[in-house]
This record gives sequence, structure tokens and C-alpha cells, in this order.
Amino acid sequence: MQQRFLGFVIAAMCACTTMSPLAAQTPPPINPEKLMDLKKQAQDGVEQRRKLAQVMNDKIFSFSELAFQEFETSGYITSILEKNGFTIERGIAGMPTAWVAKWGSGSPVIAMGSDIDCLPKTSQKPGIAWREELVAGGPGHGEGHNSGQALNVTAALAVKEIMEREKIPGTLMLWPGVAEELVAGKAFLVRAGVFKDVDAVLFTHVGNNLQTSWGDANGTGMLSVEYAFHGETAHSAFSPWRGKSALDAVELMDMGWNMRREHLRPEQRSHYVINNGGDQPNVVPSEASVWYFIRETDFANISKNVGIADTIAKGAAMMTDTTMTRRVIGTAAPRHYSRPIAEAMQGNINQVGLPKWTDDENAFAKAVQKLVDGKPDGLATELRPITPQPTRLESGASDDIGDVSWTVPTVTLNYPANIPNVSIHHWSAAMAMATPIAHKGVVAGAKVMAMTTLDLLTSPELVKQAKDYFATVQQKNQKYVPGISATDMPQIQLNKETMEKFRPEQRKLYYDEAKYDTYLDQLGIKFPMLTKPN
Ligand SMILES: [Zn+2]
Repeated sequence: MQQRFLGFVIAAMCACTTMSPLAAQTPPPINPEKLMDLKKQAQDGVEQRRKLAQVMNDKIFSFSELAFQEFETSGYITSILEKNGFTIERGIAGMPTAWVAKWGSGSPVIAMGSDIDCLPKTSQKPGIAWREELVAGGPGHGEGHNSGQALNVTAALAVKEIMEREKIPGTLMLWPGVAEELVAGKAFLVRAGVFKDVDAVLFTHVGNNLQTSWGDANGTGMLSVEYAFHGETAHSAFSPWRGKSALDAVELMDMGWNMRREHLRPEQRSHYVINNGGDQPNVVPSEASVWYFIRETDFANISKNVGIADTIAKGAAMMTDTTMTRRVIGTAAPRHYSRPIAEAMQGNINQVGLPKWTDDENAFAKAVQKLVDGKPDGLATELRPITPQPTRLESGASDDIGDVSWTVPTVTLNYPANIPNVSIHHWSAAMAMATPIAHKGVVAGAKVMAMTTLDLLTSPELVKQAKDYFATVQQKNQKYVPGISATDMPQIQLNKETMEKFRPEQRKLYYDEAKYDTYLDQLGIKFPMLTKPN
């Protein structure tokens, strides 16, 4: 796979440098006034694609596909990019739903990324302020990963139009975060060399304000690892002494970890599920496994805590006379974002500003906030200043964009497509994600994304500053430690059965943009619906 992809990159580069009419021309110099004008055009270009942004956002919301099973989503996005002249390579890094789309020629190569997968048990009708599933027990966009690619594609098409008209050289690359909810995709993209020739990554993630940051990000890096224990079956009543219980080993491991974690740094976060607890009570479980997320704020402490978990697992195996094997499922490096690019992005955030929310949109936001005991202060009305490197890192969640951020200068843009003060990985975080709130947030974010791409395309100095920062500032105290080895493989079988179970019901509810203006229209929802009719 790695070889195949590198072959593609080389072939694509050859095609660009020898055949493209753009590459042969010397680009006209772009002065600050001209750049201002191009950014204005980019904003207009995004406005003209407002409909596309809404359709893509709603369509991907209706697909709601779990990690590694994003087949409809990826097929849909790549078909749009292909129709718009992008070259697509599919099945990247051993992941059938991963792809890379490229358009343009030569450098700089600017790579826009965003996640595409959804979450278990968060199926939710949008635009209503009460709990009601679209598909009972089904997956849903309970974080809002349906919106990021709508943003990127809208931005990329607006920039492409300007590049063609102004003969600006450079390559636009789009790529998806596959299985981000399992932090199980991006490290494999890095290992496969997807970012080898990329100059800057502009990543985007749904949020509730228009903002960016630089330096080490609050939150954690992590390893996702499964410990499987192997014993012997026996009749649990007739001859229990002949059995070796793998489930006992799982329980002992969990007890050991739960004792030990009191004596770890408070920055650590760790959690587990028993994903195999045996078959039935009267058969001593010969096979059992437990799946851990082990998080810390830096590479050294992640490794240290993984070492402790490994030791506890070995101890549990010894105590039960079972054997233990471990499997890495995913990883996320702690994130570090590029200061020069983030500062350029902040300039564009200040120009674009927050969307103007209507009374209906605010009333909906407040109703949802009240429903889940969040502070009922409605939608964001004030931009936040850029978040600088924190003096002391706060613990929290992880994102495998971290691995990309240690490979190439990277920033993340958050955009206001969701409601503040709701809990993510929860159905309430899906409620706004196919409503005008999400549509407006995506458009605002697409403008910033397009403008920042233009900054990078037209300023070799900015690209150089980003590379200098990456080499001398970012890597001064830490260097990238990949969480995956050369032989770990993406766990693409995950969620297959779950999606097979729910997809037939979901398919009946896929958004048909030819028939309905919006997904809300298709569902017969008059936004906003604040109280459940009796
Ligand atoms: Zn996310």
C-alpha cells in the first residue's frame, strides 16, 4: 500500500511538472492589496457555494457512518471532488475508506483535512429540542463530523477557481480523518507517507466558535490497546478446577489498573471496555479481552503509562495461569500547532467574524442547552482571541491530528456549527448539525479556510516561517514518537457488523437533495421545534 501510494505521488508530480500549462508560467507577484482582493473573491466564492455546503453537510449527516465504515461518505465526497477536476487515490494506507484528492501543480502543497466518522448510539433527529432517534439504537453524528468536509470542499473549490483565473501555482490536497472517533486512522496515513510532500496542513474540526490556537494544545495523546487473555474452558459447576478463566484475568487487570491509577500523574486519563467477556456462565471463559485508552499529555508519560498497563496485564495472566496478547488499535500524538500559520489564520478569522444568528437559531440553542443542563446562553456572539501555548497543559481528550502535527506544520480551525455547552459524544451534539446553525458555521469556516490557503499559496515567506517554527521551536523539547509500529495494521473490521445491522434502516432516511431543499424539509421538521407536540 505504501509503495502503491508513493508511486501515485511520483506519477502525479511528474504529470504536474511536465504537462501542466500552469507550471510553465512564472506566477505574477502578489502584493498585499492584491491578496486582500483575492481573499474578498474567496469569500464571495464560498458565498456562491452556500448551497453546496448545506447539501454536503446534510447528506453526510444522513449517512452517519461509524469508524472505518465511512463508505457512503467517502464515495460521495470523492465523487464531488472528481467532478471538479481533482485526482483521487482511494484505499490509502490499507484503509478502504481513506483517500487523497489532489488538484493543481507543484508547490506549495496545502492539505485540508477533516474527520468523517460518527458515534455509536447518538442517532438523533436534527432541529428538534427533545430526544428522538432517527434509527432506534443507531449511530449518529453526536459530535458533528458531518460538517468538516463540507467546509473543506467548499473552500477548496472557491480557491481552485481563483488559482485558475489568476494562474497561481500550487497543489490543493484534501483528505479525510477516517476512524477519528477511535483515533485509529491518521497515524497510518502518516506512516504511509501521505504528508511527505505537503508544506502545510489546514485541519478543521467542528466547534461552537470560530477559533484557532498555536503551540502544545490542551488535551492528551494516547494509545488505544486491547489486551486479550487466553485460558481453558471447563464446566463451571462440574469441574471448575479444570478451567483457566480469561475473564478472571481481565477483571484482575482492571482491578490492578484502577488501584494503580491513583498513583499516576493527575494529567492521565484512562478508560476501558470489556469487549469480550466470555460466552455463557456455565463455560469457563477461555477467551476474554479488555480494550484500554491510555492518555497523557506528552510522549514520555504516554509510554510510561502504557508500560505500567503492560506489566499489570502480564501480572493478571500470571495470576490466572492464562496467556496474554496485545493489539494496538489506534494512537494519537499530543497535538502541537504552528504559530505562524495560526496567526495568519487568526487574521482571517477576525475579518470573517461570527455568523449573524437569528432569534430562532438562538431560541433553539437555548432550548437544547436547557435540555441537557448546559448553561443556557445561546450561540457564540463574540470571537475569542487566538489561544497561545498554555503555560501548564490541561488534560482532556485526544485527536490523532496530533500525529500529523508532528509530521508537517499543522493548524486546526474550529468553526461554529454546533451549540455551546452541550456534551459531545452525546445525542444533544447532533441536534444542530443539520440545521441553519451548522450551515452558517460551515460557511464561516470555509471562508477562513479559503483565505488561509491563499495566504500560504501566495506567501513563500509564510511557508518558510512555518517550516522554521516546526524545525526549531516545535521540536526543541519533544520529537515525534509514533504510537504504531511498522507492523500494526488499521483495524478496518471494526464496526462492520454494527453498520450492517443499522444501514438498511438508515438508507431509507438518506437525504435526497434532488427532492428536498434541506434535510429538515425531508424529515418534515419546521425548524426550530422547541417542544415535543403532545
Ligand atoms: Zn472529533
